[in-house]
Amino acid sequence: MGTRGRQIVGLDVDDLVKRLNSALADEWLAHYQYWVGSKVVMGPMKEAAIAELVQHAADEMRHAEMVSLRIVQLGGTPVLKPEDWYRISGCGYDAPEDPFIQKVLEQNIRGEQCAIGVYDGLVRLASGRDMVTYNMAQAILADEVEHEEDLQSLLEDYESMIERARGER
Ligand code: FE
Ligand code: FE
Ligand code: MG
Repeated sequence: MGTRGRQIVGLDVDDLVKRLNSALADEWLAHYQYWVGSKVVMGPMKEAAIAELVQHAADEMRHAEMVSLRIVQLGGTPVLKPEDWYRISGCGYDAPEDPFIQKVLEQNIRGEQCAIGVYDGLVRLASGRDMVTYNMAQAILADEVEHEEDLQSLLEDYESMIERARGER
């Protein structure tokens, strides 16, 4: 823990660490959801989906790294047991039990929309009170916004391909 670094935080540090641990659990679950999704996804355009899912899995793990470093800087302990991830996660885990591309994309879009809410909340909370957390949260928020758009445009491409194949346009 950096003592002066912790002193300048104009927020309840224990509460902030709790929120960051919830975000950390979200990131690990999102990482696994993307990672396992990339293994099981099937259907038309699956190669494009796999490329995106693999890239996002790596991004979510990088986010876990960023969030855990900030927790340690604040004198907290990153969640130690995977069994606690479900309990403290805000966004949860959506198992890709139906591996069809459309379903997997829709699940991950919902996950990204949840993540956008989490980091938008952290950016607003930290604004003017904790610039280090603010910078971290806004960098992750920008990635989550990009992730949502990547998946939605992939889903649109998939849907327009299906429409064409049906001769609807
Ligand atoms: Fe993330
Ligand atoms: Fe993401
Ligand atoms: Mg992407």
